[in-house]
Amino acid sequence: LHNTIQELKGNIRVFCRVRPVTSNEGASKAETTTAAITFPDPEGGKQIEFAHSKESARGAQIAKSYPFTFDRVFQPSSTQQDVFDEISQLVQSALDGYNVCIFAYGQTGSGKTHTMEGPLNATQESMGMIPRSVLQIYENAKQLESKGWKYTMEGQYVEIYNESINDLLGNYSIEQNKKHEIRHGPGGKTSITDITTVVLTSPEKVAALLRKAAHNRSVGSTQMNERSSRSHCVFTLRLTGTNSVTEETSEGVLNLIDLAGSERLSQSGATGDRLRETQAINKSLSCLGDVIYAIANKDAHIPYRNSKLTYLLQNSLGGNSKTLMFVNISPLLSNFGETLCSLRFATKVNSC
Ligand code: ADP
Ligand code: MG
Repeated sequence: LHNTIQELKGNIRVFCRVRPVTSNEGASKAETTTAAITFPDPEGGKQIEFAHSKESARGAQIAKSYPFTFDRVFQPSSTQQDVFDEISQLVQSALDGYNVCIFAYGQTGSGKTHTMEGPLNATQESMGMIPRSVLQIYENAKQLESKGWKYTMEGQYVEIYNESINDLLGNYSIEQNKKHEIRHGPGGKTSITDITTVVLTSPEKVAALLRKAAHNRSVGSTQMNERSSRSHCVFTLRLTGTNSVTEETSEGVLNLIDLAGSERLSQSGATGDRLRETQAINKSLSCLGDVIYAIANKDAHIPYRNSKLTYLLQNSLGGNSKTLMFVNISPLLSNFGETLCSLRFATKVNSC
């Protein structure tokens, strides 16, 4: 049994990242509570403790603390490079033929997009995990050429909004009514109908792809209420390798997913589109938790079909696949409740 647990531990990992207080927030000191978050094992880098004090009915201060342990905890001072160093092996394994999913989970404003994509017009230092992953894969693939390997890399970027799929690399504004269906073909190959696939022949192409997706998303967000935080964005890199010397072949998939904001939106009072959005987000995030839990539990039935996200990623979750979840959290006191919810969700995934 111990072995099985070790094995599972190897396939599902959870990293917690605390974002720094931003410069605008720094101005209102009352908002910030970096002092309430402590890192009991700064060297080991696995623990985080959230302290919170509340006033009792009699006016006394009651201090509570919430300790959590993850596979890795990144402090606000951690750089993108620090974070990438911890995932680069996982990224490499996609080149070795594994299917990999890397998720960013957390409330809106907790740093998911910063972690995955980095800022727009990012520098070498601020680049996020998507461009870093692609760059590393380029370098590794080049090194493998001397051993006879030749790789093709194809990229896709889709948005799942209200349980339907939009192409972030297509002509977004006229494509709203296009229906994209998920197909699972033989050999565990997943495809989406009518979707743009870009053959990534150079790192510059990746930068262009991210810009196009960001543009499409910003178009979406002015049309709809902060749409980018209401949808899941799934970047998929398919790596197909053939070896001219040994005649081996390899097929791996790397998925990097910027999840919809996990904040509980009040359902009371919400109607129409807003209510449907809320229900879709809550449902798909809890489905994701259920699927990861069922996989770790070795359940006979894995409920992939309960949401579009898990159905799309079916062949990259479970089996030989490797999963990493970032739980991104905010350091602000005003976000305390949501932070606790995120840490608890992540703990449930981590205890799998
Ligand atoms: P989310 O995608 O979860 O809604 P963002 O990635 O947009 O959150 O982050 C919210 C704000 O915090 C942005 O202004 C972003 O630039 C900033 N931010 C997030 N994480 C970091 C970080 N590690 N270092 C510096 N700024 C960050
Ligand atoms: Mg975001």
